[in-house]
Amino acid sequence: MKRKKKFLLNLALGFFVSTILIGVSGQGYLRRVEAAGYDLLFRLRGFSSFNPSILIIQITDEDLGAVGRWPWDRTWHATMAMALKDMGARSVYFDIIFSEPSREPESDMAFAEAIERAGNVYLPFAYQERSVNRETALWPVPELAENLKGTGSINVYPDIDGVIRTMPLFFREANEVYPHIALQIAMDYGNFDITGISPERIILTSPEKKVKAPLVDGNSTRINWLGKWKDTFTHFSYVEVIANYRKLLSGEPLDIDIRPIKDSICLVAVTAIGLYDIRPTPLEAEYPGVGAIATVISTLLDGKMLSVAGPFTNYALVYFLGTLPFFFISGKKSLREILAVALIAVLFFFVTVKLFENHYLINYVLALGALLASYTVVATYHFVRVSVERQKFFQMAVTDSLTGIANVRYFMMILNTEYLLAKREPEGRGFCVVMLDIDHFKKFNDTYGHAVGDYVLKGVADVLKNSVRSSDIVARYGGEEMVVLLRVTDIRNAMRVAEKIRGNIERFDFRDEKNHYKVTVSAGVSQYRGGEEDTVETIMKRADAGLYEAKENGRNRVETLEKL
Ligand code: GH3
Ligand code: MG
Ligand code: MG
Repeated sequence: MKRKKKFLLNLALGFFVSTILIGVSGQGYLRRVEAAGYDLLFRLRGFSSFNPSILIIQITDEDLGAVGRWPWDRTWHATMAMALKDMGARSVYFDIIFSEPSREPESDMAFAEAIERAGNVYLPFAYQERSVNRETALWPVPELAENLKGTGSINVYPDIDGVIRTMPLFFREANEVYPHIALQIAMDYGNFDITGISPERIILTSPEKKVKAPLVDGNSTRINWLGKWKDTFTHFSYVEVIANYRKLLSGEPLDIDIRPIKDSICLVAVTAIGLYDIRPTPLEAEYPGVGAIATVISTLLDGKMLSVAGPFTNYALVYFLGTLPFFFISGKKSLREILAVALIAVLFFFVTVKLFENHYLINYVLALGALLASYTVVATYHFVRVSVERQKFFQMAVTDSLTGIANVRYFMMILNTEYLLAKREPEGRGFCVVMLDIDHFKKFNDTYGHAVGDYVLKGVADVLKNSVRSSDIVARYGGEEMVVLLRVTDIRNAMRVAEKIRGNIERFDFRDEKNHYKVTVSAGVSQYRGGEEDTVETIMKRADAGLYEAKENGRNRVETLEKL
């Protein structure tokens, strides 16, 4: 029964800590930490295979050096469209927004004609700001838009830290679904149709296969970054492709292998640093924007979309790890328990990495946070509990249980310390001891019983305590004898205090329902005389002798052997 109660208490505490953490993360306070944990998984995985049919025809700084400043005359793109068509490319995408006509209308004419002849060219459009409105979007000029194979938006929204982690796969406008350019190209290339769409996922079906793309925020995919810019996808230089096309046309030998272009998806883009949209990704600080499109096309075609655990799974993990420490941490073997927590954390992280390698993402940062938070709570609780217990034990060891004042052991300990201090500082630091004994105490016991005897003892202890400074030590010396250490006090003042005590007790109204009791005490006072010869024992003995004197001289009085 007791064990069951403890089990339930642990469970409740674990739930409490986990719920608080989930609440905090829900407010977005942990978003940066979660993002950092997410990025770490990509860095640990590093490279993952990409679809070989995706080529990047890039305009680098060198190409700009060879041809001239951007933007280029559009006859270049006309040549490129024809070159790629003749080399056998299936889809050609220019990652450039042609929303303004050229200064030379002939260039636009040439490009428009090439687009028509090639028949496999895609151009993008861009929604302005956050408004998903095709009316206000930036479109290619009409001549170019006329004969495209397809179009799609290129909007990508970075996270607050500027890092690209998601891409909207489609936009909804007035109940119509418009694919992002990456989705559009992948659908055409893989013969996919959208056969299912919900806020959680979009399902693409081709004659050969079915691809499920899990969604976040209703329309976005978490980009499954496959590797660094240089390691992923096949890269061609724009100028090189054009040069080799000219050679191809004139029958000269080529200096690059153009075979990969056959049946490929060619993404033509400006990748020169500092010129176009270069953005950070979890893997790299400078990554050309077209790479996001290439990555999403690749993962769509290969069915490698990143699945993200839903809130239910993530919260279940938080509750599991957040509850664990409450069951096995008792604060008794701290080092072993810390190691156990670390081991659980490492194992859990290992599982996370393995799942991620299989394109499944869990919010491990939150779950590990729960483990750590609940461990901290339990460990702190045990630490405080042990400290409080020690404090209680100490209290018990030094107090007299009947009267609540110090016991003789504690008194002697303090007296010894005071003695040593006084010996070290012969000038000024004297102290005195008052030894007290209740007069005719036996009669209270014999006449009224032990209970009354105990009552009188407690009462005397209380009066004693209230008669001296808080820095003085009042203790029960044994039986009905009590003793007071008066710190930094000379004998004259000690006699005054002892007399005050005696008077206070005499005047105090000891009573119960039936009787009044006349209680008096006798007291002997001694003083530390200084020097080696006067020891704690001799001081106590002189106080006792003083007490004996007081009893001899008729009780209810104070006596001393010291010189006044
Ligand atoms: P006097 O000191 O004036 O000479 O007479 P007295 O009656 O007080 O004599 P004495 O000091 O010898 O008596 C001590 C008695 O105190 C003996 C014992 O019964 C009683 N006593 C000691 N400790 C306790 C206690 O804890 N509770 C009670 N009720 N009585 C105690
Ligand atoms: Mg007595
Ligand atoms: Mg006595």
